[in-house]
Amino acid sequence: MPMIASELKQRLVDIAGGRGVLDRPEDLLLYEYDGGVDKGRPDLVVFPRTTAEVAAILAAAKESRVPVVGRGAGTGLSGGAIPRAGGLMVAFARMNRMLDIDLPSERAVVQPGVVNLDITLAVQPQKYFFAPDPSSQKACTIGGNVAENAGGPHTLAYGVTTNHVLGLECVTPDGTVFNTGGKEPDHPGYDLTGLLTGSEGTMALVTKVIVRLMRQPEMVKTILAIYDSNEDAGDTVAEITARGITPVAVEMLDGVMLRMVEEATHAGYPMDAAAVLLIELEGLKEAVEEQVEQVREACLASRAREFRVARSTGERDLLWKGRKNAFGAVGRVSPFYYVQDGVVPRMQIARTLHYINGVSKRYGLTISNIFHAGDGNMHPIILFDARKPGELKQAQRAGEDILEYCISVGGSITGEHGVGMEKMELMSKQFSGETLDMMRRLKALFDPEGRLNPGKLLPTGKGCIEIRQPAITGAGTVY
Ligand SMILES: Cc1cc2nc3c(=O)[nH]c(=O)nc-3n(C[C@H](O)[C@H](O)[C@H](O)COP(=O)(O)OP(=O)(O)OC[C@H]3O[C@@H](n4cnc5c(N)ncnc54)[C@H](O)[C@@H]3O)c2cc1C
Repeated sequence: MPMIASELKQRLVDIAGGRGVLDRPEDLLLYEYDGGVDKGRPDLVVFPRTTAEVAAILAAAKESRVPVVGRGAGTGLSGGAIPRAGGLMVAFARMNRMLDIDLPSERAVVQPGVVNLDITLAVQPQKYFFAPDPSSQKACTIGGNVAENAGGPHTLAYGVTTNHVLGLECVTPDGTVFNTGGKEPDHPGYDLTGLLTGSEGTMALVTKVIVRLMRQPEMVKTILAIYDSNEDAGDTVAEITARGITPVAVEMLDGVMLRMVEEATHAGYPMDAAAVLLIELEGLKEAVEEQVEQVREACLASRAREFRVARSTGERDLLWKGRKNAFGAVGRVSPFYYVQDGVVPRMQIARTLHYINGVSKRYGLTISNIFHAGDGNMHPIILFDARKPGELKQAQRAGEDILEYCISVGGSITGEHGVGMEKMELMSKQFSGETLDMMRRLKALFDPEGRLNPGKLLPTGKGCIEIRQPAITGAGTVY
């Protein structure tokens, strides 16, 4: 029995137009996955053009009691945009306009389907930029960034998406449109913008976003520090912090990763090193020049074997090209990979890398590391071959093992990729029952019927792998 009755389909065609609705199996196939390892096919994908259309779509879905999932670019890494219960997917690809760029106020108002990097490209000629820069920024959308509270290499100094979103326009699952915040900071009342940013598309669909724009710094220096030991690279982060310096980015690539990246991008990374740190400093010229020297001292104190400062914008761009195209580089080497997103206190980075190495040996899987070291946000990438029976499960177990370790040292199960369907059962290891109950009650205020992005974020009490299985089996599986 199809979940989308022909009357509902006709209503959606009337709202979004014939070209705004997909329901042929060959089209739906493209919407059954995101950047993670889970799958689940929607019964219909609808592409609204305006807020009014989103509201009408959600009102129609409510009447038919159909589950709804929002989708940006589908680059999410925790299964957030996977329709576990089938039903309706609302894809924001046609709501991709910048509505207002207000440089005197340093604000922009954009639709949710705008691609992250396009905001910076639009204001770059006037020497402004949008700070949150996920490595997927050429593809991911601002709606997806808001839902996941996305981060990126430069969040060490600038903060994550929530620090750059001042207001939202949203639609609740019953079709009610409401606004939060505004162009001015610190609006009175409850901070609904803060609550909804990072709510993983489980409370409301976002139809407009007010973002903060920032002035480009006077000087940027990008540094490559090269190490013969993973742990030494890890220790450097604490050495830099001890000197009272906050670089805008401290990214680490281990030996396995930098060899894959170098072969794919020829960015100039050393093929024989155990690890490198990509460090970026920004600010006023005199301050940055002084900090470069202090960072050099910190790196050498942690036994860096070489310390290079990019001499031109070209060299700097090449180093970042290597970092930002890393996942693509992994794809050239392994048919499947599974990215994790645990956070540990900075002082625990070296020890955590050692633990991950042990997990790699225990599970017999290659694990390489590329991560936002300055934030302690680890991204172990587990290589596996899903065509070999049992290897996907092994990779998932290895990922869970690492995340449980992160919790045990005072960290967290996600720094930026969200909980989604991937890590929801681990939420009960991170939070008390009382805290989770408070979250459930908040969700119910916005979505009392539990139809918006069901089977995400909040734990059910079943094991992660046990609950994940039905979604992998495919189309329209009712959760
Ligand atoms: C190569 C690669 C590198 C990455 N690097 C980073 C990184 O550095 N930092 C980082 O934080 N993430 C990173 N990610 C993860 C991912 O890009 C981010 O989570 C991003 O924010 C997802 O945006 P999206 O448009 O693809 O959203 P989708 O994957 O389509 O959706 C993600 C979630 O957002 C919800 N959603 C989408 N649009 C809306 C809306 N309008 N209203 C309400 N909910 C909505 C969906 O329901 C889903 O729950 C990376 C991913 C890849 C593949």
